[in-house]
Amino acid sequence: MTSKLTDRLGRPLRDLRISVTDRCNFRCVYCMPKEVFGRDYQFLERDALLTFEEIDRLAHIFVRLGVEKVRLTGGEPLVRRNIEVLIQKLATVDGLDIALTTNGSMLPHKAQALSAAGLKRVTVSLDSLDDDVFKAMNDVDFPVARVLEGIDAAAEAGLTPVKVNMVVKRGLNDHSILDMARHFHGTAHTLRFIEYMDVGSTNGWRMNDVVTAAEIVSQVNDDMPLEAVEANYEGEVAARWRYRDGGGEIGVISSVTGAFCGTCTRARVSAEGSLYTCLFALKGFDLRGLLRSEASDDDIAEAISSVWGNRNDRYSELRSSQTKDLPRVEMSYIGG
Ligand code: SAM
Ligand code: SF4
Ligand code: SF4
Repeated sequence: MTSKLTDRLGRPLRDLRISVTDRCNFRCVYCMPKEVFGRDYQFLERDALLTFEEIDRLAHIFVRLGVEKVRLTGGEPLVRRNIEVLIQKLATVDGLDIALTTNGSMLPHKAQALSAAGLKRVTVSLDSLDDDVFKAMNDVDFPVARVLEGIDAAAEAGLTPVKVNMVVKRGLNDHSILDMARHFHGTAHTLRFIEYMDVGSTNGWRMNDVVTAAEIVSQVNDDMPLEAVEANYEGEVAARWRYRDGGGEIGVISSVTGAFCGTCTRARVSAEGSLYTCLFALKGFDLRGLLRSEASDDDIAEAISSVWGNRNDRYSELRSSQTKDLPRVEMSYIGG
């Protein structure tokens, strides 16, 4: 059942990202830089996290309000113990499509169990095929080969199509664009390039570090000619490009140079149960307090409807000198 719930700009609530943990075994420079997320960093305590029962209850409520897709994310969602148990619960919610975004490091031994629990698709983040560049991006000594094994394991387990996300940061991994494109050309996996974004306030983002979607497409097109493809559905964030030789397609997410706020139908729930209506929101709405009170499902649905009904976020469209110093929550907290 699709509800008529829309925000102040007429955008329905369709997608939900749930962060299941704020922790991660990587320290990507664009997301959780080691200088900030070091030994002394205070991650959320276990009892601050929403339980699987609480997440399941929320999922049912969100579906009543029109949500069709849930993506589990984090932090690194696969570091949350027994995540399969949550997936098993969510898989019983009628009409709900369940996906997950992961850094792939634990996929080689987790993919089968995730699929058996009812997960349908995964997106794997991988920023280079070169171990040195990969390490410069994520600050851990983790072999690229193991992430590639994770991608294979996901495909074998039927978590398809596997999407591969590459964040491009100028001077760090822009010389890996073509290697990555060539590697995934002709495979069933879809590589998606993401413009480096100014999420959070710890990654020291500068516009000069952004390799634009236009630059990326032009670089790939010079090597392997591309043609534009229509979006699969309204509001698809990645612009689609097909190889003219039939070798599949790539996606390009122009979060910085081509904002798509007008069709943004996505809500986010942080690991401790705060509801955010934009990746760049200043403040969340505390759902955990309601879940742990006497509030009924109807009360919670009403609270969510009211938050969504008041939504008018369009940060990326407004990004400017005025927005640059606004405080923002971290991507690893809110769920990328
Ligand atoms: N740990 C998982 C992973 O890396 O796939 C899931 C969480 S991560 C925050 C979700 C996605 O956000 C990843 O694809 C990551 O590359 C992307 N991301 C993180 N920081 C970003 C930034 N500053 N700009 C663009 N994408 C970013
Ligand atoms: Fe961890 Fe994902 Fe953030 Fe990298 S992008 S630090 S893997 S949460
Ligand atoms: Fe959606 Fe906010 Fe991103 Fe715009 S900036 S696309 S409203 S999450």
